[in-house]
Amino acid sequence: DKMITLERVNKIYNNKFHAVKDVSLKIEKSEIFGIIGLSGAGKSSLIRLFNGLEPLTTGKIEIEGVDLSKLSKKELLNKRKKIGMIFQHFNLLKSRTVKENIAFPLEIDGWSKVEIDVRVKELLKLVELEDKEEFYPTQLSGGQKQRVAIARALANNPDILLSDEATSALDPKTTKSILKLIKDIQKKMGLTVVLITHQMEVIREICDRVAVMSNGEVVETGKTYEIFLSP
Ligand code: ADP
Ligand code: ADP
Repeated sequence: DKMITLERVNKIYNNKFHAVKDVSLKIEKSEIFGIIGLSGAGKSSLIRLFNGLEPLTTGKIEIEGVDLSKLSKKELLNKRKKIGMIFQHFNLLKSRTVKENIAFPLEIDGWSKVEIDVRVKELLKLVELEDKEEFYPTQLSGGQKQRVAIARALANNPDILLSDEATSALDPKTTKSILKLIKDIQKKMGLTVVLITHQMEVIREICDRVAVMSNGEVVETGKTYEIFLSP
């Protein structure tokens, strides 16, 4: 089953900068797919196209067989709810507690207070932060902040989790624990994970398959062990 299909996708910023060049990819349901490349290779530009937040210049993107360009505004909004995203710098709201950060997407989605409380409790348990619900982001370690961001990204029960350098600001030990959490959640929920990174260790640790990007192009795709022969 294909979860995400890209056909000859191009992204040109301001009619000028060609950030994504003719990329075709098929990402299967429930796989952990890595995109690796140097800074500036076009990785973020590429995954920002997946949720329709950034329009593509030419080409086609299908999510679960549905062409994003064929969706109405409302349908696209619903699709977007099914795609969670996490970032290098966590993007948590400073003025909100852990609990309130996780509740945020649910409030926007119009859940009732009771439903939100139940869901937030489940999510806190999933990321093992039950004892931190009243903390503010500044009172947390980097790894804990990323756990909060993961809980928030999963609040709406998405089918896809997009990770943009989610472990790049973390030390090696914390990186391992976050990758393990992502892997555990992926198994539990059958999530499809697309993860971009410049770190080979991250790909080796959890990715089933990998695409290598360079100068806007995908130059190689394959199983992780085929692309990076194990030491
Ligand atoms: P990566 O994630 O691999 O580091 P990016 O997708 O962030 O790469 O960037 C690829 C190129 O596209 C860079 O040269 C960057 O400056 C350019 N770029 C990214 N976003 C924009 C934008 N919104 N407007 C113009 N250029 C952009
Ligand atoms: P790590 O080794 O994972 O980076 P830290 O040393 O940053 O962890 O934090 C250790 C513990 O102290 C964590 O449980 C965190 O919640 C707590 N903590 C860190 N900074 C603060 C703070 N400014 N106020 C309250 N608690 C904090």
